[in-house]
Amino acid sequence: MKLNATTDDILSADNHLIQSFCDLDALKQNTARTVINRAEGAFVYDSDGNELIDGIAGLWCVNVGHGRQELIDAVTQQLGQLDYYSTFYNFTHPSAAHLAQKIADLAPASLNHVYFANSGSAANDSAIRILHHYNERRGKPDKKRVLSRHGAYHGSTYLAMAMTTPAFSQTWSSASDLVHHLRSPHHWREGGGMTEAEFLDALMEDLEQSIAHLGADNIAAFIAEPIMGAGGVIVAPKGYHVRSAEICRANDIKYISDEVVTAFGRLGHFFASQEMFGVEPDIITSAKGLTSGYQPLSATIISDEIYEVISAPGEKFLHGFTYSGHPAASAVALANIEVMEREKLPEQVRTTGKQFESTLRDLGELDIVGEVRGSHFMMGIELVKDKATKVSFDDDVEIGGKVAEAAQKRGLIARPLGNSLILSPTLVMQPDLIEKTGDILRESITAVAKTVGH
Ligand code: PMP
Repeated sequence: MKLNATTDDILSADNHLIQSFCDLDALKQNTARTVINRAEGAFVYDSDGNELIDGIAGLWCVNVGHGRQELIDAVTQQLGQLDYYSTFYNFTHPSAAHLAQKIADLAPASLNHVYFANSGSAANDSAIRILHHYNERRGKPDKKRVLSRHGAYHGSTYLAMAMTTPAFSQTWSSASDLVHHLRSPHHWREGGGMTEAEFLDALMEDLEQSIAHLGADNIAAFIAEPIMGAGGVIVAPKGYHVRSAEICRANDIKYISDEVVTAFGRLGHFFASQEMFGVEPDIITSAKGLTSGYQPLSATIISDEIYEVISAPGEKFLHGFTYSGHPAASAVALANIEVMEREKLPEQVRTTGKQFESTLRDLGELDIVGEVRGSHFMMGIELVKDKATKVSFDDDVEIGGKVAEAAQKRGLIARPLGNSLILSPTLVMQPDLIEKTGDILRESITAVAKTVGH
């Protein structure tokens, strides 16, 4: 292990690392990379020793905060007892079994069966494969297509990327035949002068027409994040999820709630789909906050009804990842959930997350801020060239990137996403740090606004 290497050493080694969602050419040309090599609580530290508020919790995942000894101990104890065994064939092990039971307890009543994988993408792929298997077994082999939405993000494996908004997939993804993208539910951008209620009706019409056009007998699932994350933190009009789920049910289409980001406390609940949006999905996928990022793990949680069909006598279940329910990942997830329950973290977020939300909403008064959106510890800020007309900055201005850079100089990591900034911090942020985050964002946005003629 080279924990104390110099920044130059690390950057030289880093020339061999391919980063994700990045401009590879720019990375090759310069050394403006941030080396994060230590973390504690709500903060991370770069290799030059600078303290930064982790405004994105790693990647929407370090919900209980960094450096929790209890979680670290859970991993080492588990590795000491059982480093690895698979959950293939008839094998199982204590931590995966107990974690599955715990998740079934926390999830909506009819979701009692859990399939583990290692990423949100694999959880979503698993959900679709499971539904294809389910439909084959019901004698409906054509029922395979998926309804997703413009603006969605469901992952980077081939299928998950096909379900993601086409804006992310460039031209690489050709599983697109399987997926139909419905309209984005973003009222502020896409509402075209309609009231929110009218816009909701239009979205439901789009859903019904798409089902009629594709044929309900050809559609396996509708997949939706309760609040879209990487698409810019988009909150759908009130009632959207309940009405979508009703239409799906009437057409024998399974409703998948992608709670990779929204579960495990980020919105003040263990699962947001039912408690916040009133929907009981047929499948929930989750990852990230499940282990608070201390180990890679995801869960595809399926209903009793789906499970009964796929577990009935007949064809085998031919699906599996070597590391499904890895002992160390399962052990850390159990310890993570224990911390969340003991500290009543989701309940706490209903107060502190709301404070965070209102602190960020106050930035809406700035001239360059078009919309502040989101909920609790999941927020987005869209910057605009002209507030009245909502005209965006040209892409080459890289306005989001400029503000993120200005914020980092002032001690805060925020994530740029086109013309928006995403904030999804650790859930342990307390009022003083929330206020400081708001101040840094205000200063950074104001400073950048001046440089682009605002
Ligand atoms: N679904 C959602 C809603 C996500 O935000 C993400 C990742 N940001 C994924 C799926 C994919 O998860 P992973 O990167 O672990 O594959």
